[in-house]
Amino acid sequence: MEAQTQRPESPRDPLERMARARHEFGEHGGVNMSIEASTTFTVLTAHTMPELFRGALGPDHGGCYLYGRSFNPTVYALGRQLAALENTDAAYASASGMGAISAVVLQLCRSGDHVVASNTLYGGTFALLHDYLPPRTGIRTAFVDITDLAAVEAAITPDTRLLYTETVANPTLAVSDLPELAAIAHRHGIPLVVDNTFSPLLVTPTAWGADIVVHSLTKFINGASDIIAGAVCGSEAFIQSLMDVHDGSLMLLGPTMDPKVAHEVSLRIPTLSVRMVEHCRRAQVFAERLAELGCDVCYPGLPDHPQHELLGRLRNPGYGYGGLLTLDLGTIERAERFMELLQNEHSFGFMAVSLGYFETLMSCSGSSTSSELSEEDRAAAGIRPGLVRMSIGITGSLEQRWTQLRDAVERVGGTSQRVQA
Ligand SMILES: *Cc1c(COP(=O)(O)O)cnc(C)c1O
Repeated sequence: MEAQTQRPESPRDPLERMARARHEFGEHGGVNMSIEASTTFTVLTAHTMPELFRGALGPDHGGCYLYGRSFNPTVYALGRQLAALENTDAAYASASGMGAISAVVLQLCRSGDHVVASNTLYGGTFALLHDYLPPRTGIRTAFVDITDLAAVEAAITPDTRLLYTETVANPTLAVSDLPELAAIAHRHGIPLVVDNTFSPLLVTPTAWGADIVVHSLTKFINGASDIIAGAVCGSEAFIQSLMDVHDGSLMLLGPTMDPKVAHEVSLRIPTLSVRMVEHCRRAQVFAERLAELGCDVCYPGLPDHPQHELLGRLRNPGYGYGGLLTLDLGTIERAERFMELLQNEHSFGFMAVSLGYFETLMSCSGSSTSSELSEEDRAAAGIRPGLVRMSIGITGSLEQRWTQLRDAVERVGGTSQRVQA
């Protein structure tokens, strides 16, 4: 499979690409696009309908829209903005991140096929590949340490149909070496599929050879923790295949995004850049200060993070090292007391799963979002019981938030956990 090359007319700066894609008027000249709230679409001549069903005509192929579970104009307009974000030829949004991920895996694999995936994945993705698919479909996954490139290559078999990873892994914050992984995948003729939920705008996986990018729009891209949504970004042919009336996973499994939701998400995208810059800035300051206090903090922006240099190379200019950090407080009791102090005494943030919200969200990964993993799998992935994942918010003043954070970490005795390298 060929790496996706930069399209000649496409600017390198994602903001410039997104500005172009956004420039669509509403039906009556409104500054926002219109919501096309129709589940079905009329044809002007009767003979058009069979051609629509054969796939000979479509919104981009001299025809029109067919039905709302297939392409919808508003959802498609959001797709164009996401394609611009990820520099792919096409993209389409779905009802959730898991809807997007499961559709991609099922589109690429048939019964008995094989997947090679990172062993530190979002819990739902891990459960899909590890528990759900094998008994139902015979699609099996080899989970590997994605930073061990030799192990990745050794796990690929003649039946492997895709290599799957997350740019920044959940919750270990290990960074994938996308150019090396793409080279391995392409040597074996398979696509590299990358979940870029933790790092939209920060990293453009297709610039480093990724073929398909998936997102949970629920997180940073939407940014307000009020909408569940997802997206697939890829080649025109792949996005069309997902919508095939006989063989398309998005069309047939039906994780369809509502056009009203697409409209709302599209209004959040223009502020994604300023939000990401601020999430990164605050996470960097907190990580540095926590490390100075002696806390066991993990953040890709710290020089002792194993992939600090790699993410420095992969990231787009102007962005930091992401909005998430983890803090190991040694025991689950300390971790729970720490989060309770921050939420109930300081109103610093919320004890809740998820990420990318404008407020800080905190959870113990081992007993929440990664609880789908067995104890051994968690240990192998370095997810210890006292590990608190923090998605750093952007409200309040930075110094106000730091005073709250320092107070909580000092009161639970979390300042002597750092293992000196
Ligand atoms: C949340 C998340 C998902 C799943 O997305 P939903 O929108 O909740 O279905 C997938 N991957 C990552 C990295 C996530 O954080």
